[in-house]
Amino acid sequence: MKKDRKDLVERLSDQGYIKTDRVRKAMLEVPREEFLPPESRPYAYIDQPLPIGHGQTISAPHMVAIICEQLELTEGMKVLEIGTGYGYNAAVVAECIGPEGHLYTIERVGSLAEKAKDNLKKTGSDNVTVIIGDGTLGYPDKVPYDRIYGTASAPKVPETLKKQLKIGGRLLIPVGLDDFFQELVCVVRVAEEEYKSQKLGGVRFVPMIGEHGWSER
Ligand code: SAM
Repeated sequence: MKKDRKDLVERLSDQGYIKTDRVRKAMLEVPREEFLPPESRPYAYIDQPLPIGHGQTISAPHMVAIICEQLELTEGMKVLEIGTGYGYNAAVVAECIGPEGHLYTIERVGSLAEKAKDNLKKTGSDNVTVIIGDGTLGYPDKVPYDRIYGTASAPKVPETLKKQLKIGGRLLIPVGLDDFFQELVCVVRVAEEEYKSQKLGGVRFVPMIGEHGWSER
């Protein structure tokens, strides 16, 4: 598995998804197979999303690389993730921000959140707190955040999340009205009431369901 992981990380670097040593080291460190149901483990190092139950998926490795690179993570950051799933992306971000940093991650499906807690504990991500709830409300208890990112897509950028950023902080979220195509949007809080946003390209994510996202289908 370690050789497969190394090969995948090399491929993602060659393809330009992994750009920095920080993300490269983190993706080499985190065992993706530990964040998958047993039947999917043989496919851990194929670059594709995989099912984790409840109609949800673990993101493809190239997508995790894109998110981590675009977040421009550094040691000691306080980060909020919406959509924990089984915890793989969380583990890679946690590795990027190091032991002085902390990741708060919110998952609306209780059983996925519990599984993510176990997976993160087993793989030694001590700087992650998993919360069960509606991530479109953010996590006011620990505001403000250096970085916030969503791993599910919203119809528009939730204002609640923008307001929980530090000045200079950055939010990444897939946005769009189509189930099969959304844009990854980056919002930077440049001043108390001023935000700059940029579209980073097409992506495909499951819907973010909640008060400031989609209604339950
Ligand atoms: N981060 C995961 C990974 O490491 O591969 C991918 C998670 S999956 C693509 C998106 C997750 O977002 C699902 O587990 C889904 O239940 C969750 N989700 C959807 N809406 C949510 C919300 N409002 N709050 C929290 N989690 C939500």
